[in-house]
Amino acid sequence: MSVMSDSENPYTLAVANQKGGVGKTTTVINLGTALTAIGRKVLLIDLDPQGNASTGLGVGREKRNRTSYDVIMGLADLKDTAVETTVPGMDIIPGSVDLSSADVELIADRDRMLRLKRAIADSGNIYDYILVDCPPSLNLLTLNALVAANSVLVPLQCEFFALEGLSQLLQTIREVRKSLNSKLNIQGIVLTMYDKRNNLSEHVANDVRETLGALVYDTIIPRNVRLSEAPSFALPALIYDSTSSGSVAYQKLAAELLRKIEDPIAA
Ligand code: ATP
Ligand code: MG
Repeated sequence: MSVMSDSENPYTLAVANQKGGVGKTTTVINLGTALTAIGRKVLLIDLDPQGNASTGLGVGREKRNRTSYDVIMGLADLKDTAVETTVPGMDIIPGSVDLSSADVELIADRDRMLRLKRAIADSGNIYDYILVDCPPSLNLLTLNALVAANSVLVPLQCEFFALEGLSQLLQTIREVRKSLNSKLNIQGIVLTMYDKRNNLSEHVANDVRETLGALVYDTIIPRNVRLSEAPSFALPALIYDSTSSGSVAYQKLAAELLRKIEDPIAA
């Protein structure tokens, strides 16, 4: 049974930033785990040829019979592609290196941007939330995620060039809204890898809040070694070390996100 009353199911969140290494995959893994822990039925979709979300949750290459590539190519549906992760109750559509050629393979296909949206629409009501881990590029895969999504979550690393490239992403979101997905909105921007010992982190955080205001989540994800260690144990930090500062922050982020989505008036 769905826990969400008046919003459509499943709620699809694209985690995107064409900048590499800003915390997209870490956010998808740990936010997904936090949502699962509070009773939501969650599916992750790994749309990155690197497959980091899959590996980080115990789905190595040998376990990837069907992948998100098959979904995008229309060769398989979500139900037959989803596999269990090391997080009880959380499933994933694994990524595949094959994804890197999807752009070219679908170049003549007029519906190439609608592939993921259709697959999700056909998947029924099994999941409350679908979190899509996008590759570090504004390519066809990321566009599929933006077209399929209810909203976008943008991780922004607390470093000097944090805002660089963001305007391009915002412009792409505006274009998708005008064309293929008028309901798309920005769920929020989350500051990641915040280092409280480094003045630059604080400076960047203030700067981003001044520029983007209410779009920025109150929750900040600290730089925390547990978040980077956990994937090598095929676990989310939330299970690997649930009391670590990174785990606690992602639980707070999940609560903040749920308030915005499921209780927007209170938020
Ligand atoms: P890509 O663009 O390559 O897909 P990404 O945006 O998905 O990268 P991640 O893979 O989540 O970024 O993070 C990049 C690296 O930084 C990884 O090694 C990850 O473990 C580490 N990392 C992410 N967030 C944190 C954090 N808050 N504290 C410490 N390390 C982090
Ligand atoms: Mg990634």
